[in-house]
Amino acid sequence: MKKTTSKPTFIPKMYCNLFGHDYQVSKKVTYHVKEYTCRHCKKELTTNSNGNLTELTPKFKEINDILSRIHASRMQRLKKKSFASSIY
Ligand SMILES: [Zn+2]
Repeated sequence: MKKTTSKPTFIPKMYCNLFGHDYQVSKKVTYHVKEYTCRHCKKELTTNSNGNLTELTPKFKEINDILSRIHASRMQRLKKKSFASSIY
């Protein structure tokens, strides 16, 4: 059995204060919009409409959700199109 040790949360935060956040892409919303999560403190960022990074608030999560759905359906349509054109 693997025992999960619950680390106190102030350590990752202290780490980030000292060394800075270590953001990794956690979700690709569209080509230009991505969501990032800090490996240490789990702080989340996203790309906003200006192309800058901003804190991932519930409002931005909502926006990204809609964006990714639009993006996915657009990709789906593109795939169908190229599939059709490869037949003919
Ligand atoms: Zn951090």
